[in-house]
Amino acid sequence: MNLKINVPKNPALAVKMLINAGFEAGVVGGCTRDAIIGEIPHDWDICTSATPVEIQLVFKEFKQLTIGLKHGTVIIIIDNEQIEITTYRIDGEYSDGRRPDEVAFTRNLLEDLSRRDYTQNAIFFNEFVGIIDPFNGVLDIENKIIRCVGNPNKRLQEDALRILRGIRFASKLGFEIEKATKTAMFENKELLKNVSEERITEEFVKILQGKDALNILDEFKEIIAFIIPETKAMMGLNQHNPYHVYDVWEHTLVAVNNTDGLILKLAMFFHDIGKPSCFSIDEQGLGHFYGHADVSFKIASEIFKRMKMTCAQGISGNDLTHILELIKYHDVIIEPRKKSVKKMLSKLNGNVEQFQRLLSVKRADALAQSPDKLTDKLKQIEDIEVILMEVLAENPCTTLKDLAINGNDLIELGIPAGKKIGEILNQLLEDVINENLPNEKELLLTVVQKYMNYR
Ligand code: ATP
Ligand code: MG
Repeated sequence: MNLKINVPKNPALAVKMLINAGFEAGVVGGCTRDAIIGEIPHDWDICTSATPVEIQLVFKEFKQLTIGLKHGTVIIIIDNEQIEITTYRIDGEYSDGRRPDEVAFTRNLLEDLSRRDYTQNAIFFNEFVGIIDPFNGVLDIENKIIRCVGNPNKRLQEDALRILRGIRFASKLGFEIEKATKTAMFENKELLKNVSEERITEEFVKILQGKDALNILDEFKEIIAFIIPETKAMMGLNQHNPYHVYDVWEHTLVAVNNTDGLILKLAMFFHDIGKPSCFSIDEQGLGHFYGHADVSFKIASEIFKRMKMTCAQGISGNDLTHILELIKYHDVIIEPRKKSVKKMLSKLNGNVEQFQRLLSVKRADALAQSPDKLTDKLKQIEDIEVILMEVLAENPCTTLKDLAINGNDLIELGIPAGKKIGEILNQLLEDVINENLPNEKELLLTVVQKYMNYR
């Protein structure tokens, strides 16, 4: 095989030093896969026949981190770059369907490559021997196929997380999962109960962001329903409504596909999860989902906690609050008028970015409904966007912070500190947003004084 991989300077140096010291060494795993696919690897993992102690000796002049030593990994720092070097390994028995009971080191590369999950992840390279690819991973990459190394049933039973890793690669790369591997994924899906929520969530979030998420989530919906059981009732739920051309599940996936970025994709994935429990059908045979946004909000909050969503890469607690807010308001009508836009902006605590996200949610939602009236709906969203800009140019008052008077002003008027102050300020804010009062200090104070005299 004359495929050449351009390994950057620092990992190439580490490989060379190991080889010069008489060991085998090369890059392996995700980096080799990504390089062959033509993507830039995010890190370069090195594997070697040297034992951890031997690795430490070879790099004795370099700073080292030994946190992974038990698993055979030594991290070497070259030019401030951390490089992971792992001894060839054989995984022992898997009795918990997740982690090998023990790992044993080996001098045999083939044994190390055999323990890896998919053929595309079991390719070794160094510039002296070239590619070593005993399971034809390169061919599978060329044919865009994801295939387990060895017997898929056995491999997925050893570690059920591999099921989700495989689905993630398919979603990210737009590859097909080979038939026997796919069958084994479905047959062993229940073993995912042995995998921690954190790891499931990490994979789920990546699956959601893949370029082929739309097809893959649908193809593997039984597995998604296993990890998020609340989705099951969405699948095949006919909406009995001319506004909809898709069932709730298909609508959800198309909506996810119509957005960019994790916050919006998560918001779309969960925005209608409350629909199944809100479904009713009227005398004309039309389907309705009254109150579903609030129910979706509640169900999604529970799921996010259970799935430990903030442990996933790229999601903060703040992001989750925003996602839940988008779910809650996805169906609220915003009219293309200043007053209505200001009201919504106020509900979102004046957060303009969140307002824009809400418009993206509405756009994605509309695009996943019937094409009938779609142009009107999109036009309206565009109009709202224009009005939002106009409103912002006027420096609008949308939160208590923007109000021309504050609690101290009211205390000076003789109103005792306490709950009443908040009530009055909120009432004034509402009147200002509704354009019943201008946001001017003197005037607002006069209004409060009048109110006090009336009491
Ligand atoms: P990513 O792009 O997310 O880093 P990756 O395939 O590199 O994908 P890592 O977790 O970095 O994933 O693992 C590095 C390599 O270790 C993999 O390419 C694979 O060879 C092996 N590996 C990782 N997890 C497993 C697993 N659960 N079972 C078997 N082999 C695994
Ligand atoms: Mg990796």
